[in-house]
Amino acid sequence: ILCTGVTDVQPHIQGTIETVFDYANAQTIDYCLICDGHHVLGKRTVIIGNENSSAWNAIMLHERYGCPEMTILTNGKESNFQKETQKLVDLYNIRVLTSPIKEIQGEDKGKILKGFLLEDGNVIQAEMSFVSLGMIVYNELAKQLGAEVDERGFVIGNETGLTSVSGLYVAGDLKANTRKQIYTAWDNAVSAATAINLIIRTKKRNQLLT
Ligand SMILES: Cc1cc2nc3c(=O)[nH]c(=O)nc-3n(C[C@H](O)[C@H](O)[C@H](O)COP(=O)(O)OP(=O)(O)OC[C@H]3O[C@@H](n4cnc5c(N)ncnc54)[C@H](O)[C@@H]3O)c2cc1C
Repeated sequence: ILCTGVTDVQPHIQGTIETVFDYANAQTIDYCLICDGHHVLGKRTVIIGNENSSAWNAIMLHERYGCPEMTILTNGKESNFQKETQKLVDLYNIRVLTSPIKEIQGEDKGKILKGFLLEDGNVIQAEMSFVSLGMIVYNELAKQLGAEVDERGFVIGNETGLTSVSGLYVAGDLKANTRKQIYTAWDNAVSAATAINLIIRTKKRNQLLT
């Protein structure tokens, strides 16, 4: 059973990803809307990202929690939003700023976020933020074994996790079309282990019967 997972892409600020480390997963710079979205309640919020999915993170948080201010920082990149998405961004008064981030402003080793200083001199005050730059999928082993992956690199498996390669199962975040959550990882790992166990028991039983 392959379950090598994924990792979130980190933003480069001052030329390094280390700038975010103090804040990462400290409920000041987070990554998963399902896990930590509720922390935006009553807080000015920033989304770091320039893709359509980044804008959708801002839209979803606005719709779910109605945070007082929502800003998308593209960190020096052009925004890549679809027309319909841009329309919602405008309707919800979500600001989109493209200047690179120069500095994260906060206190107490990342436990308190105050805002982001941009290279154009603007300071965006915010108490909460999410990084939305996509994921690195650890699929090298799966690909080496010839397993089929989807367009984002997730390994395709059936309901038991069986991949396109006989005897190779996939579980957890690596599996295509699953919620990237602990309970789904457990659930499809159990499905894969149960399927493998059934194959082994059936083989042994059939040997006894012949
Ligand atoms: C910050 C954060 C907060 C989260 N909060 C929640 C939450 O509140 N609730 C929730 O349900 N989910 C949450 N999640 C998601 C949850 O952690 C994942 O869905 C879950 O860990 C997936 O389990 P997994 O076993 O598939 O992958 P992982 O837990 O990522 O484990 C994969 C392992 O494979 C290893 N690996 C990768 N490549 C190789 C290789 N080539 N050889 C050997 N080992 C390798 C990795 O080092 C890693 O240890 C959160 C995730 C993050 C990042």
